[in-house]
Amino acid sequence: MSVQPDDFSTRSEPQSGARADEITEACPSCGTPASEIRAGGSRRIHLCDACGLGFDPEACRREPNPDEAGYYAAAGYDGWMRGSSRRRRDARFRLAWLGSYAPAGVRLLEVGCGHGHFLDEARTAGYRSAGVELAPALAERARRLAGVPVVQGRFEASDLGAAVAEVVCCWRVIEYASSPAPFLARARDVLAPGGLLALETPNAQLRRPAGIIGARAEGPVDLPRLYFNPGSLRIALKAAGFDVIACDTVFEDAFSKRNSDGSERTGSLRRFGRTNLSDPVRGEYVRAIARRA
Ligand SMILES: [Zn+2]
Repeated sequence: MSVQPDDFSTRSEPQSGARADEITEACPSCGTPASEIRAGGSRRIHLCDACGLGFDPEACRREPNPDEAGYYAAAGYDGWMRGSSRRRRDARFRLAWLGSYAPAGVRLLEVGCGHGHFLDEARTAGYRSAGVELAPALAERARRLAGVPVVQGRFEASDLGAAVAEVVCCWRVIEYASSPAPFLARARDVLAPGGLLALETPNAQLRRPAGIIGARAEGPVDLPRLYFNPGSLRIALKAAGFDVIACDTVFEDAFSKRNSDGSERTGSLRRFGRTNLSDPVRGEYVRAIARRA
């Protein structure tokens, strides 16, 4: 796997090279030494000037923990996530986007399927669905809710077989991977030739370091290890053997927001004077559709 010089066209500044007094770590995506940036708090986020990826080296060295992932199944997190109507609406928004690239009827694998609401909506829409989930409790919930096969385990190490799906989806999951390459390589393996990978991950806006860790996790939940923007996601996808068909960002407004009392917040799109739910770079989430090359 290699990254070609042309891939670095998203750089906005010439690479200055690391100074001797800087703490550097190899970028988990392209291998270039990346310097620590001041992002506030106790986390040491590094930014790769070559590909634009941000990463937390200490977190990247820790394996994802099923027990921590299982926190999402616990009562505390359920309170925050209460209301499957929201998750189903998010699922239908993603399905509408996905459907313009991949018709119903094909085999769809969701990585990090959580409670299984997307799988259930996808099955209802006619996709032949299956899931992968790290947390045992969530895998069981998803099986029951969606009535489809769900493999419990870490995706990179999963034994799913080759070419088992025409579509692989992962919604806000890749940022928890220890490294982009093994995750994307596994996605490539499980896709049939010409199959599509659909990704969504927070847009880290890495030129503004304070924005990186703006969203703090509550409770003993794994924090993101990787911080993508549209440029760094495109580079990682190309390096992993994918042709990027579409890559843009979507605003939080596209997903139904909730007030602190749990009620739905409406009208925010109009309040901010926007008429679109997506934008080439400015939205809170990066999403991409890429074809297995
Ligand atoms: Zn890099």
